Amino acid sequence: MNHDFIIMLKAAKFAAEKHRKQLRKGAESTPYINHPLEVARMLAEDGKVEDASIIAAALLHDTIEDTETTEEELLHHFGQEITSMVLEVTDDKSLEKNERKRLQIEHASHKSPGAALIKLADKISNVRDVGGSPPSHWDIQRRVDYLDWASAVVGALPLKDHILLTMFNEAVTQSRNQIEQAK
Ligand code: ZN
Repeated sequence: MNHDFIIMLKAAKFAAEKHRKQLRKGAESTPYINHPLEVARMLAEDGKVEDASIIAAALLHDTIEDTETTEEELLHHFGQEITSMVLEVTDDKSLEKNERKRLQIEHASHKSPGAALIKLADKISNVRDVGGSPPSHWDIQRRVDYLDWASAVVGALPLKDHILLTMFNEAVTQSRNQIEQAK
């Protein structure tokens, strides 16, 4: 148990340092670290995830994609299991954006159980932001397109009857309503 707390807290500190100069894209410009913290909280509290490796990987899930963090660094600090999960939810930024989005749908069905749950909680967090606190330069169509794409990714994940799937569907419905009201 003690080891579980330590690995999760180490991951939270590592992610906070890596994302320290970043803000979320929404109008409120909250610290970026709030996003991985919320994804991890959602998995632990709403998703009833009790595996500390999944929670640690959730805290780290955007470090390779959105900061200068390397795979070697994660391996050194957190080992193979956690690093593998982070890599599973990391886009290849050398690819063009539409290709990355297409690949997320294509690769979703091959995700390990832990990576699938992190991907799902990540999409819930982003869908809620697109509804309630979207990036200021996004127009209505871009927000609607995001919800459609996120639904396609989540629909392809190898998960069935999970409480977080229900929460995702509720988040999409709520965001569609918020976008409708913004028209
Ligand atoms: Zn994320």
